[in-house]
Amino acid sequence: MNEKVDKDCIFCKITAGEIKADIKYKDDKILAFSDINPQAPVHILVIPRKHIATLNEADGDILGYLVSAARDIAGQEGISESGYRLLVNCGDMGGQEVSHLHVHILGGRKMNWPPG
Ligand code: 5GP
Ligand code: ZN
Repeated sequence: MNEKVDKDCIFCKITAGEIKADIKYKDDKILAFSDINPQAPVHILVIPRKHIATLNEADGDILGYLVSAARDIAGQEGISESGYRLLVNCGDMGGQEVSHLHVHILGGRKMNWPPG
């Protein structure tokens, strides 16, 4: 069994091309695609190709890579100057629904604070 993939994970299926997604960026480590239920004009998810369940299991190398890529993808989407939000929900209380680490890029409208 390939330990890097969880066969029941939606995002692993997107990485494998088994579920379609609007891909915005990909390389050998990560993938970025539009959120299926966008909460802002720009709503993109950036994920590691490897199955990592939550932020708690991620090492600094992949986290740095994900955040740096998310910053660059925000630029590609034209929201660097106007501003945007990067968000990671972690675990149940953090509101994480898909158990494959992902960074949300949200932009194109004014973000509210505090979050709900
Ligand atoms: P979480 O609540 O885990 O931080 O965010 C999960 C996100 O994944 C949600 O914003 C949800 O809309 C998105 N999502 C869930 N299933 C799919 C899918 O099959 N395709 C895409 N593109 N996004 C999904
Ligand atoms: Zn996965």
